[in-house]
Amino acid sequence: MPEGDTVWNTARVLHRALADTRLTGSDFRVPTLATTDLSGWTVRESASRGKHLLLRLTAPPQAAPTTAWTLHSHLRMDGAWRAYAPGERWTGRPAHLIRVVLRSPEAVAVGYHLHELALLPTADEERLLGHLGPDLLGDDWDPAEAARRLAAAPEVTIGEALLDQRNLAGVGNLYKCELLFLRGLSPWTPVGAVPDLAGTVTLAQRLLAANRGRWTQSTTGSLRRGQTSYVYGRRAQPCRRCGTAIAKEELGERVTYWCPTCQPPPAPTPAAG
Ligand SMILES: [Zn+2]
Repeated sequence: MPEGDTVWNTARVLHRALADTRLTGSDFRVPTLATTDLSGWTVRESASRGKHLLLRLTAPPQAAPTTAWTLHSHLRMDGAWRAYAPGERWTGRPAHLIRVVLRSPEAVAVGYHLHELALLPTADEERLLGHLGPDLLGDDWDPAEAARRLAAAPEVTIGEALLDQRNLAGVGNLYKCELLFLRGLSPWTPVGAVPDLAGTVTLAQRLLAANRGRWTQSTTGSLRRGQTSYVYGRRAQPCRRCGTAIAKEELGERVTYWCPTCQPPPAPTPAAG
């Protein structure tokens, strides 16, 4: 599942394949960019911010009024970028899912089922991404600011607040479920009743950082199939700590997994007034 670490890894793959190279061709298969041709454009770098991918490009002087541009994409649930050697067979996904192909002399980058694919002046990145909270895997990660943003809406459940990228950027459903298990917190706990928000966001950062540089997402320390999570994807299986059957239920727009024993429900709040 593409969460902050997967997006970070993807950005690195694209950086290694394309950075400091001049594109020899592009093929956009989305209506808004159908006539865009990036031939002759230079790739400066590939970066990520939260779950957003930013491929930064320099346009040839005659091609555009400004030279610094960013090709933005978002993987959401199902998107992917793959890099291939020229002439190598594209094995990533079915061809009808291809949204863009970028060619350089040394590599071909293929974007599958990308969302929010857009070309914008790099100067406008802030307008697009300025709402995001601190990036868990960014150089400017700021746990105090993430905790402050979470605390600003104390009535929201912690399960929903952690997925809101305006609070902190990079946590998806897998890390949310695993983090709450490790902290012994019910997903329905109001943010205002979480005893140590700073400790919670710090652990989130550690979980994502531990999976940088590999595609297997593990929160248990094990990379063996079926052993990589405590609760996520384990409905009705025994809790690894206490043996209770792991529960699964909808929370907001997403499902959540938790152990009803290790993560007891929050105490009812006293009625107002
Ligand atoms: Zn348990």
